[in-house]
Amino acid sequence: MFPAIEQEIKIAPWLKPLWTSLDFDRFPNAVLIHGQSGIGKFAFAIELAKALLCESTNLAGRPCNECDGCHWFNTGNHPDFTALVPETHRKLLPQTDYESVEPTKKSRNTKDDDSESSERKEKKNISIEETRGAIESLAIGSHRGGNRVILIYPLEMLRSDSANTLLKSLEEPPNKTIFILLADRVDRVLPTIRSRCRLLTAPRPDRSTGLAWLKSQLSGSSEVKVTDSDIETIYDEQGGAPHAVLESLIARHHKDEKDELTISIAASRILLQSMAQGAQINWLETSEKIHKAQYSYLLATMQRWVSDLQLVSMGGKPRYYPKHIGTLNGLSQTAQVIKLLQFWKSLVQARRSENHPLAARIQLEALLSQYQQVFEV
Ligand SMILES: [Zn+2]
Repeated sequence: MFPAIEQEIKIAPWLKPLWTSLDFDRFPNAVLIHGQSGIGKFAFAIELAKALLCESTNLAGRPCNECDGCHWFNTGNHPDFTALVPETHRKLLPQTDYESVEPTKKSRNTKDDDSESSERKEKKNISIEETRGAIESLAIGSHRGGNRVILIYPLEMLRSDSANTLLKSLEEPPNKTIFILLADRVDRVLPTIRSRCRLLTAPRPDRSTGLAWLKSQLSGSSEVKVTDSDIETIYDEQGGAPHAVLESLIARHHKDEKDELTISIAASRILLQSMAQGAQINWLETSEKIHKAQYSYLLATMQRWVSDLQLVSMGGKPRYYPKHIGTLNGLSQTAQVIKLLQFWKSLVQARRSENHPLAARIQLEALLSQYQQVFEV
């Protein structure tokens, strides 16, 4: 429709209809964008915040990237933009100098009493002090005379005391203040908050759109090298969330775990081919071929496969391996539901000790031989 706009708004193509549906002349005080994790809600919200803070008057509904407002925003310094995100998500914000945010955490630098796990849990939460500070600063009014935007993600990670503070602001919204709230699971958001927002449902792309986008993103990268068929495998395993796939590929690349990932992907493929054999699976040979790959990765693959098999057995559609629907249908004819459920429970049990398997090969043999028993001969 408008090719120029298509190019300038940095959001995923499947979210464009949602963008076009927004009325920038009468924008609500609070929107709650919800949808599956990893489909691009965060990037959408960032672009939306920028559009709402853009000071150019003749470009309704998209940021100009040239005005002072856009400039401040792009460098992570816009005084009227506040993002309440956990530490784990802060690196996703535009150009924020990550180091400069650290000093606010100096009180936690005493390493003596904080156990690592509680610290990690803390990093996944949105800080209460920050929430309170952000809400209190709303009383001061806008620095640049335009909108003020507060972005909160993930809303589920807001502690209850912070949620109450937020609720008060939503009940009596300060002038020219816009809340962009994001949630992966809208059913976990307090109904009192939900009812005060305009709900925007972010859809998941269909498989071919998602894959095409992902491949185009990766083709521009000289760093991350993955084959198309590997992309498809990972895509299906991540439940069709393209941004999640992209992030995990980049993260793994930076961690230099590429070799390990490659081994795991190859093993995962062999595993799937074997499991597709049903009663004819050669579990000894399969275990021998795959046991050097990451055990947790293999268990996850088995879980997805069995989950799809359960879905298909109940007349549903496969979620992770849609292109194997024929095989899954065939297997579901001879799979015994109770044994399949027992196998599922064994997998869940195995995942509890996945990080310290005693003998991966022997455990894989046991699991795959149990899988063979699922099917009537
Ligand atoms: Zn602008």
